[in-house]
Formats: sequence, C-alpha cells, structure tokens
Amino acid sequence: MSCVSDYFGCLVFDDRMMKANLSADVYQSLRKTIDQGAKLDPGVANAVASAMKDWAVAHGATHYTHWFQPLTGITAEKHDSFISPAPDGGVIMDFSGKELIKGEPDASSFPSGGLRATFEARGYTAWDPTSYAFIKGTTLCIPTAFCSYGGEALDKKTPLLRSMEALNRQAMRILKLFGNEDVKCVRTSVGPEQEYFLITRELYEQRKDLIYTGRTLFGAKPPKGQEMDDHYFGVIKPRVAAYMADLNQELWKLGILAKTEHNEVAPAQHELAPIYTTTNIATDHNQLTMEIMQKVAAKHGLVCLLHEKPFAGVNGSGKHNNWSIATDTGVNLLSPGETPYENAQFLLFLCAVIKAVDDYQDLLRIAVATAGNDHRLGANEAPPAVVSIFLGDELQGILDAIENDTPYEAARKKTMKLGVDVLPRFPRDTTDRNRTSPFAFTGNKFEFRMLGSSNSIACANIMLNAAVAESLKIYADRLENAENFESKLHEMIQKTIKDHKRIIFNGNGYDDAWIKEATQVRGLCNYPTTPDCIPHCLDEKNVRMLTEHKVFTLPELKSRCEIQLENYSKTVIIEANTMIDMARKQILPAVQGYTGDLAGKLAAKKAVAPQAACGYETKLIGKLSELTDAIAAATDDLEAAVQAVKAYEDVEKESAAIRDTVIGKMNALRAAADEAETLTAESYWPFPTYGQLLFGVH
Ligand code: ADP
Ligand code: MG
Repeated sequence: MSCVSDYFGCLVFDDRMMKANLSADVYQSLRKTIDQGAKLDPGVANAVASAMKDWAVAHGATHYTHWFQPLTGITAEKHDSFISPAPDGGVIMDFSGKELIKGEPDASSFPSGGLRATFEARGYTAWDPTSYAFIKGTTLCIPTAFCSYGGEALDKKTPLLRSMEALNRQAMRILKLFGNEDVKCVRTSVGPEQEYFLITRELYEQRKDLIYTGRTLFGAKPPKGQEMDDHYFGVIKPRVAAYMADLNQELWKLGILAKTEHNEVAPAQHELAPIYTTTNIATDHNQLTMEIMQKVAAKHGLVCLLHEKPFAGVNGSGKHNNWSIATDTGVNLLSPGETPYENAQFLLFLCAVIKAVDDYQDLLRIAVATAGNDHRLGANEAPPAVVSIFLGDELQGILDAIENDTPYEAARKKTMKLGVDVLPRFPRDTTDRNRTSPFAFTGNKFEFRMLGSSNSIACANIMLNAAVAESLKIYADRLENAENFESKLHEMIQKTIKDHKRIIFNGNGYDDAWIKEATQVRGLCNYPTTPDCIPHCLDEKNVRMLTEHKVFTLPELKSRCEIQLENYSKTVIIEANTMIDMARKQILPAVQGYTGDLAGKLAAKKAVAPQAACGYETKLIGKLSELTDAIAAATDDLEAAVQAVKAYEDVEKESAAIRDTVIGKMNALRAAADEAETLTAESYWPFPTYGQLLFGVH
C-alpha cells in the first residue's frame, strides 16, 4: 500500500464507484434517493444491486449482509452468499434489487423491550442509501434500518434519521424567516473523539473480569498511576504506533476519515478522532471504528478495551461528540457570521441549543446512561452527571449584554440591537477551553463530553437533534406570527437567556461545590446512576416532545427504557458473579496458599530457633487470616444480594435494588481483596496486576 489517496475508500461503494459503475440514468435516480429521499423504483434498484455485486465480487466478496444496529448497542449482520444455482450444475453470483432494499432477519433474539409481545417477532431491515455500502472481509455490508413489522424501530439508526429530519424541518422554517432561499436542507454533523485502552492479549487472557466484563473488578493501585501526567500527548511507543498505523490503514480503506491520534491521560490510554461528517454516517463509522479497533488489536497481540472504566483510580474512557448544524450550502449555523442578520441567526441557533439542553438535560443524561458510564461520570477527569453548558468569556459577555440591555465592551460601549447591529467579532477561543464541562461551545460546534467510550453515538445525537428541533419549532411558531420580526427576535433571545441561564456554567465542573450549587441553587438534574435517570425518559414532557417530532412512538420509548434498565441489571449481575467466581476460585486460594506457606515457614523457623520473635510472620499471618475471612464473608454477602434481587419482576425496581444492594457489596469485596493483594507475595497472586496491565505495552 503506497499513497493513502490511492486506497482511501477502496472498500466502499461510494459516489465515485456509483458514477463509474452505474449508467447515467440509474446514477441520477439513485442520487435523488440519497439526497432527497425519493423512492427508488425496482428497475433502478436491480441495476444498483447488480453493479454493487459485480464490484464487491471483483473485490473478493462472496456474501452480502444487511448491516444494522439493534438495541444491543453493537452492530449485527447475517451473511447470505451471492450464489444461486445455474441450470448447468454450476452457480452464478446473484443479487437483486429486492435483496438490496429489504431483508427479513429473525428479530426474535434481539432485545425489543416488550415490542415483541405487541408486534410480530419478525423484523425487517431496510436499506439506508445515505450511508454507503462497504466490504468487510469477504462480505458486502449494506447499512440498513431495522424495524418490526408493525413499523416500530428496533434499532438506533431509525430514530437517528427521524431526529435529523425533525431538526431539518424546524431549522428550515427558521432559515426561511431569515431569507435563506437557496438552502434545501439542514444536517447535523458529528466528529466523535474515541478514547480506548490497549493492553497485551497475553495478560488480558489471564483475567476473567476483563474477559467477561471488559473491566477489572479487582486490582490494587500500582505505585505509579497517572499522577506524573507523563503519558498525555507523550511519545507513542513502537508497538502502539504500529497498531495505530495499521488501524488507520484499515479505517481509510473503509472511507473513515481517521485524522488525529495521541496518548491520553491514563497510562495505556489513547485517542482516535476522525474528521467530522454527517451524523448518520459518523454514527455508522464510529460503530465500524470500534469494531476495527478490536480486530486490529488482536492482530498485534493486543486487546483494545472500550469499557468506560476499565481501571479504578485512573481516568476512564469517553467519547467527545463534537456536534454542529450546517446547511447544504455549507454554512455552519453555529458559527458567528459577518453581517448583522447572520449574527442574529447564529444567536438564535445558539439559544435554541441552550434552551434544548436546559429543557432536556434529563434526556441527554439518559442518552449516555449505562452501568459502565456510571463509574466514569463524576470520577477522575470525567464530567459530572449534571449537565451544564460552557460558553466561554467572549460569548458569555455578549449574552450578558443582550440579557440586560447593557453595552457590550467589545462593541465600543454600544447597546446592541439584534438584527440591526453587527456583533463584535469574537475570535474562536482556544485558551479558555474548559475541559471540565459536559457540554462546551468550542468556537463553531458544541462538544458533548458525557458519552462513554463504548456508547453508540446514535443515542446522544437522537436526543440532541430532537431537543433542538423542539426549541426551533417554538421559535418558528412565534416568529412566523410576529408583527415585527426584529423586535420579536430580540425579545425571544433575551427571554431564552433569562429563562435558561441556569444551565450555563463556565467554572470548574469537577468541583464538588458546583454539584451543590447546580442541584440546590439552580435546580439542575443530578442523576448519578442509570436506574436514577432512565425512568424519567417517560416523563410527560419528554414523551410529548419526542412523539410530537415523530422521533419515537410511546411503545418505542417504553421498550428502550426497559432495555436500558435490563441491560444495566444484567451487566452488574454478570460483574457480581464474576467477582464471586474470582474470589472463591482464585483470590481466596491464593491468599490462603500464601498464608499457609508463611505458617509453615514460621513453624520451621521456630523449630530451629525457638526463641525467635517472629513478629513479621505472626503479624502478617494474622492480618491475612483476617482478610481471608473478610473476603469470604463479603463474597457470601454479595452472593446473597444477587440471589435477593432475582425476586423482582419489575425492571425498574430490580435495577434500583441492584444499585442499592449489589454495587455496595461489590465494592466491599473489592476493598478486602485489594488490601490482600498489597500484602500477598507477587508470585502467589493469581492474575496480572494493575502495574503489569497498565505498563505492559512497549
Ligand atoms: P480538539 O477539540 O482536540 O481541539 P478539534 O476541535 O479540531 O480538536 O476537533 C475535534 C473533533 O471535532 C474532530 O473530530 C473534528 O473533526 C470535529 N469537528 C471540528 N469541527 C466540527 C464541526 N463544525 N462540527 C462537528 N465536528 C467538528
Ligand atoms: Mg476535543
């Protein structure tokens, strides 16, 4: 492989391939379907399918699959080969338009959160022509949406596309009012920064907790962690560099715009960021990226951990969702403009986001809620579970001036009238970027930082798009009926700032005092855990907004809540069972073995030197015996708690009970075991330590 531009996207049936392999007519109709959602006629579908198949076969593909994103959070595929019997006993490679457009996988084993009871078990997949088909191994993958026969979405792509459409609809109304006649549609774009850990496969395989749960459930702190800040942006070690090079190549072949890579704060932690693209495609690409990251790691004898908190005591991994809104004419609506009108328009979109984030803080929290992310939010260098917005001094100054009708310094002491005066230019500020804010304005985009590293970015963007669509709808309703557009605009922006300034916080989000102020003074939501927040998804205001914009139906929402809670409960119970297994089969025997050997040595010493004090051995044996009993008791306790929660039928009650009883017992068991680790000779410890895991890749 030589030059990147030669092979970039070589495994993608992208626009270049379409142009090259389709007749002009077929290409035109397909483009119309992609750009405007026009229905594809069967003749065109057949021609596209046939060209796609020929292209894929020429690249070594033997199978095709409808690639979709069920509610498991990962992607799913069922492979069918292209072969079809020929009359002469041979086979031909065949792929019809019908097979391209629609598939019928058996949906019954995917989570449906009750939708299955109400609707048919079978689901269908429908081609999403806005996301290009690609080849993975020997399979042509066709991005699809996944629905039940009743039309209920069983995936994450469908509501994401709906949310993008909702935002498009409302943003277009606003843009019309501002006289933007040339704009045909508005799309959101996302650049997700992906954090991950790399450890050696050999060590990984010796730890049941990593194998079963993706995170360490035990492990005493190593002598060195991240306190020296020597890993962040540090020189990339050769083995990691080789991995990154290989990863980039695989991603580029798939047309994924992998751009930036660097070491992160924790030892063994790294980050990959692509160049931003349309949200729908960014989501597909991020799912693929996570898959390829793990695959390439295996080739290098490594394991890529995507868990939000694989190691206690050092940073967890998140995903920064850089999000903006742009027109098809290339205008970023979150970028301050040149003229008074453009600036007023920018401020209105900015206010729409502020209002959306304040009104639907709970939905944003819900969108990132998983058992894994609960460990990260509010912990080392991660945003708290309270949502707030960072705007920076420049923009804050402007909003303050508008709110109070006071002169803005940088505008030469002029009182600004929106839509009449030119806003002062505020340079894109890189100096006071607040890393602690969950939702930060970074010049021409917002960076939502609460996502966990393993989350699908679909969920966060569904809620964000929908909430902003709602703000825009309210604005459009008012402005369309306004007698005086400019004064109404000014009044609305001022009102938004007044009503929603509580969500803006430019200080240190990691500070405990902030959480107090946020909850007690400002009345912001603070839902530390998944069971705390999920039930609020069904609060009346949320259901009303999401159904009105046709992003979810009520049954879909209910099913998603149920699945998210079920997922939480299952995750924690698997973790608890893994701990019980490791404690009983590995930790207790190891500590006991060491204690026994110490006792043997003590007896031998006493035999030769009856007068010897033996204080060291006696004390250690005593302490280890105590800890053995504590570990055994904590294991029994945990087991009892796991048994007890089985009695719950209701998912909400079950998850709350797990949060209140099981998690505490897991922590107690870990504390005793980790203390024992610090006292047990290294050669006895039954699995690799934190030190080995975090500093094992060279
Ligand atoms: P950093 O935050 O590390 O300084 P950047 O701001 O350049 O880096 O970009 C971080 C991520 O944000 C990248 O994935 C980038 O493509 C994405 N990004 C940049 N501009 C936009 C935008 N207008 N909309 C969405 N994402 C963007
Ligand atoms: Mg960033």
